[in-house]
Amino acid sequence: MDSNYIRIDMNKNDDITHLEVMSDEHFGDPKQDLGLLLKRQNAILDDPNRYTAFGGDMLNNIMPKDKRWSLDASSLNSLTLEKQAWQDAHEELFKENLKLLNKGKPPKIWYGLDGNHEINDYNVDHHWMVELFEPHGIKYLGSSGFVGVEFFYKNKAIRRYKLAVAHGFGGGSSPLKSLENFMENKIADVYLMGHFHHKATDEQLVFDYDWKTKEYVERKVLLGNTGNFTNSILRGNTSWFERRNKLKPSPPGTITVSFNPYEGDFNWHG
Ligand SMILES: [Zn+2]
Repeated sequence: MDSNYIRIDMNKNDDITHLEVMSDEHFGDPKQDLGLLLKRQNAILDDPNRYTAFGGDMLNNIMPKDKRWSLDASSLNSLTLEKQAWQDAHEELFKENLKLLNKGKPPKIWYGLDGNHEINDYNVDHHWMVELFEPHGIKYLGSSGFVGVEFFYKNKAIRRYKLAVAHGFGGGSSPLKSLENFMENKIADVYLMGHFHHKATDEQLVFDYDWKTKEYVERKVLLGNTGNFTNSILRGNTSWFERRNKLKPSPPGTITVSFNPYEGDFNWHG
């Protein structure tokens, strides 16, 4: 676990800042939707107020020794080639990230996490993940972590948001149940996960006592499962999902969390 701090100096006091996390890209999976991934990446690059992060499972990494492997499981069958494909697809984004950092501006990519498809492999360790992210100026948090985002206007602090982020853990349960379990011992405004390949969001209230007003306060929290970039079934091919009864396929895509520091609010949309 680690954390990152992002300072955003707004051009206009009512600027809205968006975070669209790219999780579960699964480079090497023949079912990957690369077209959608590149489309979202272009949208992120085209909007100076739109940021991203890597939510884990960047690589599919199902190799012949893996019990999940089959002749159809991987289109690359090499961790080196999957890493190369990930880097090639994100070349423009990584360039922009380093350019912004060199100018002392907030990075385009707020954090990077490992997913089960990376870290459960004995060939992948902490140092391997650092080597994946840090040459591109991406702060590696581990499997979960925190991000503090602070908004300034004309050098005056306007609003702070705390993000608790994880790739996601376990199987079987629903994304929202898993997010609620993650939330149990963490204090944040926004809780984000991937892993379930299923976009899902919820708004809840938590309660606290405020010494300034000497009253209890209600505080909104946002729970979001950020989606994925893989299809469930490969048209014209036999695939794993067809042989599972209880799993619900969902369309690929991401959610966007929008921060409105001027109104002190934050929201999401799919
Ligand atoms: Zn995944």
